[in-house]
Amino acid sequence: MSPDKLVRAEVLGMSAYHVADAGGMVKLDAMENPYPLPEAMRRELGERLARVALNRYPEPNPGELCELIKRKMQVPAGMDVLLGNGSDDLIQIITLALAKPGATMMYPAPTFVVYSMNATFMGMKAAPVPLREDFSLDADAFIARMRAEKPALVFLAYPNNPTGVLYPASDINRIIEAAPGLVVLDEAYHVFAGKTFMGELARYPNLVVLRTVSKLGLAGIRLGYLAGRPEWLREFNKVRQVYNVNVLTQAAALFVLERLDVLEAQAAQIRAERAELGKALKALPGVTVFPSEANFFLVRVPDAPRTYEGLKRQGVLVRSLHPGIAQCLRVTVGTPDENRILVTALKEALQ
Ligand code: PMP
Repeated sequence: MSPDKLVRAEVLGMSAYHVADAGGMVKLDAMENPYPLPEAMRRELGERLARVALNRYPEPNPGELCELIKRKMQVPAGMDVLLGNGSDDLIQIITLALAKPGATMMYPAPTFVVYSMNATFMGMKAAPVPLREDFSLDADAFIARMRAEKPALVFLAYPNNPTGVLYPASDINRIIEAAPGLVVLDEAYHVFAGKTFMGELARYPNLVVLRTVSKLGLAGIRLGYLAGRPEWLREFNKVRQVYNVNVLTQAAALFVLERLDVLEAQAAQIRAERAELGKALKALPGVTVFPSEANFFLVRVPDAPRTYEGLKRQGVLVRSLHPGIAQCLRVTVGTPDENRILVTALKEALQ
C-alpha cells in the first residue's frame, strides 16, 4: 500500500516548509533576535527551569502567564489571551475553527505562507489579493474583493512578512470596518514597527490581535498569544490541543517576560542597526531595498539564485524567495558584526 493512494491530494501536492541547514553559518534567514540573554539572567533562568516538574502535564490555561502577558503587552481590560505553541499554532487553531464548508480565507499576497498552508489543510478557499509592485496594499482593491468573496477570515500581517512593509493604519481600519468576518491582525514584528492595533480591540468586534515572542528573542521556546474578546477566544480554546504550551516554555516565559525591558532594549538596538544596514545595502550597485518596519529587509538583486549561492559559499545564510517573488532575497538584521559580514559577502556575491 503506497501513501499516495490514501493521503489527501492537497497534501500530496504540497511541499514541507523548508528550513535550510544553518550549521556554522551566519544565520540571517529567519528573523531571529541575534542577541543572547545576559549571562546572569541565563544562570537564574537555568535554576528556575531546574525546579520545573517535568513529570507533570502543563497547566492547560496558565493564569499567571496570561495575566503577565496582559500586563506587559498592554492587552486592554475586558480582553482575554489564548496561548499557542508559537503563533503558527494559533493560525492553525483559528483556521480550524472557522473552516466551515465553502468558507473563504483572504490575505494580501505575498505574505506569510502559513496562512495559505492552513487554508489548504482545513479545506478553506484561499483568496489572495496581490499587493502592488512596490508591495504596498491597495486597500480599495482588497475591500472590493472582500465584497465579492465574503471571507470568513482575513489575515493581515502588520508589518508584512516577507516584504517588511507596514500598511497605513487607516487602510487597516477601513478593511476591518468593511470585513464581513473575522480579521486577524498578525503583529509578529510589532516590536520593530512600534505600531499596534491592540488598543483598538474594544472598538471592533471582528478583530483579534496575534502576537509572538519569537522575534523578541525567544523563538526557541515557541510561544504565541492571541488577544481578543472572550467570545472569540472561548471558541478557539475548544480546538486547541489541551497541552499545547509545555512546562519549560511556560516557566521560561514567566521568567523572561518579567524582565521584558532586556528584550526591548535588544529590539531597540536591532532597530538602530536596521537603519545602518538599510543604508549599506542601498549603496550596493544593482540592489533594490524595499522599506522595512520589521527586523529584516527584502532586497531585489539581478540574479537572486546566484547571489544566494554566493552568500552561502561565504558562510552567510539568507532566505531566497525567488521565483515566488522574482529575484528577491530576505535578509534578517543581525548584530553589527553579522551585518558587516553580510554586506561584504553580498558585494562579492554580486560581482
Ligand atoms: N506571523 C508572521 C507574519 C511571521 O512572519 C511568523 C514567523 N516567521 C509567524 C507569524 C510565526 O511565528 P512563530 O510561530 O514563531 O510565533
